[in-house]
Amino acid sequence: MTWLLLLGLVAIPGAAAEAPAAPEDHGFGTDPSFTFLPPTAVDTNAIPNMVLRAGDPVDAPLPVFRIAPDTWMFFGNIAEIDQYNRGWNGNAGFVVTPDGVVVIDALGTPKLGQRMIATIRSVTDKPIRYLIITHNHPDHSYGAIAFRRLGGVRIIAHAGTLDYLRSDKIETSVAYRRSFIPEDMVGFEGVEPDVLVAGERFSVYRFSLGGRKFEVYNVGKHHSFGDLVVYQVDQGVVWISDLAFNQRTTFMGDGNSRQAIEAQDWLLNKFSNARLMVPGHGSAQTPPFPMVTRTQSYIKRLREVMRRAIAEDVDLMSAVEQADFPDWRDTRLYELNQRANASFVYRELELEEF
Ligand SMILES: [Zn+2]
Repeated sequence: MTWLLLLGLVAIPGAAAEAPAAPEDHGFGTDPSFTFLPPTAVDTNAIPNMVLRAGDPVDAPLPVFRIAPDTWMFFGNIAEIDQYNRGWNGNAGFVVTPDGVVVIDALGTPKLGQRMIATIRSVTDKPIRYLIITHNHPDHSYGAIAFRRLGGVRIIAHAGTLDYLRSDKIETSVAYRRSFIPEDMVGFEGVEPDVLVAGERFSVYRFSLGGRKFEVYNVGKHHSFGDLVVYQVDQGVVWISDLAFNQRTTFMGDGNSRQAIEAQDWLLNKFSNARLMVPGHGSAQTPPFPMVTRTQSYIKRLREVMRRAIAEDVDLMSAVEQADFPDWRDTRLYELNQRANASFVYRELELEEF
């Protein structure tokens, strides 16, 4: 059902059947000493370790997985951005229809956007017609300028994306990326979408291309300035973005944890018959989509622990110290995100109490 298309210049050592047992498996970085891509991007526990170089050509395709007959997925590193993954620390994908290509997310730099385009070109010569940006976070959206420069690509995003482009957050975020992967950020510009998805939470924007139906759901602001979920009606594939994370700890620095829990309930209910869910981070998953339940239970638990701390008059610093989940320590990015998540939820709950 699932098979791997290896394209381009990335060297995969040996048969790539087994991940080297590196200590970094429990960390949050990319190990520069080896390159590894799991044999599948669906229901795997194996973690990709793709090492990119500053000197890689912009037209070098990235490795990509075919996850449905007309659907391809870029399975990104499960790591914080660093100089070895060069901002490729999330997933993206594309659908080839008889009339053109629909792209979901643009990865984290203009260069990655260009390399996505090169990859699409190595699979099909159909024109790229749509880019859907699931949310404004850099790892999903900073490659969008490459698609804008192509011309002819209609860019769909949440209305909140405009607020992000006009906020002071973008400047800090871009400066941060430029500070250690400047070559990959060359030509960066914020991209104003052509279609803004807004309205009621869980409302839908529909379009078709080449006889394939796409549904783009506004799932509120649970994780960013505005989050989308994309459904490929004909294939039963749901691109859930960062509504749930697989193979790693979630990040809660934006958005709203109560909204996230509500949206996860909506997702599981609405798409209980879907064939595949593709998260923004980690491998795609078949039913019953345990990553959604697992991410949700993490968020609920953090809210419980912090609510108790507030009720007991524990101050922020001490509450964050106490919020350790030993059973999550082996999950990637735990050590990086746990304290920040705890602190975010504490402050959120303080506001909710008002
Ligand atoms: Zn993300």
